[in-house]
Amino acid sequence: MRIEVSRVPGEGASFEGGEDPAILELRPSDGVTPEGPVRYRLFAQVLKPQLIVRGDVEAPLRAECSRCGGFFSTLIRDPAFLRDYQLQEGQRDVDVTPDLREAILLNLPANPLCDESCAGLCPRCGRNLNEGPCECRPSSDGGRWGALDGLRI
Ligand SMILES: [Zn+2]
Ligand SMILES: [Zn+2]
Repeated sequence: MRIEVSRVPGEGASFEGGEDPAILELRPSDGVTPEGPVRYRLFAQVLKPQLIVRGDVEAPLRAECSRCGGFFSTLIRDPAFLRDYQLQEGQRDVDVTPDLREAILLNLPANPLCDESCAGLCPRCGRNLNEGPCECRPSSDGGRWGALDGLRI
């Protein structure tokens, strides 16, 4: 997304739109895939020699829950996007695209969760506990402690 400096009046100008999610250059190792365009609502103002751009950037993504492995849709958002660009003499436009990308990538969760209360997988049988309890009874762990008690004796 490029902002044409000559089109920004003294009082500033608003820019709203979407970018192809390819600008995010996501790799499989990022653990997320785009589900729609990167949307922005920006306000640009020239305060010579700078162009100040602030606003809101968001991208709908599909992420994998770090606890249960389920896929879920999420909206990654930077509601406080703010960048300033040093304008060179005669510069016509400013490309904001790399910074839109950075704003989204910086807000990717390190450990995405499908829900704050995601119950995860049972460490014994691997069942997704969000779908209901499994056959493993908590008391079955008592066996291990029981064995340790036996060793102590
Ligand atoms: Zn989950
Ligand atoms: Zn289980």
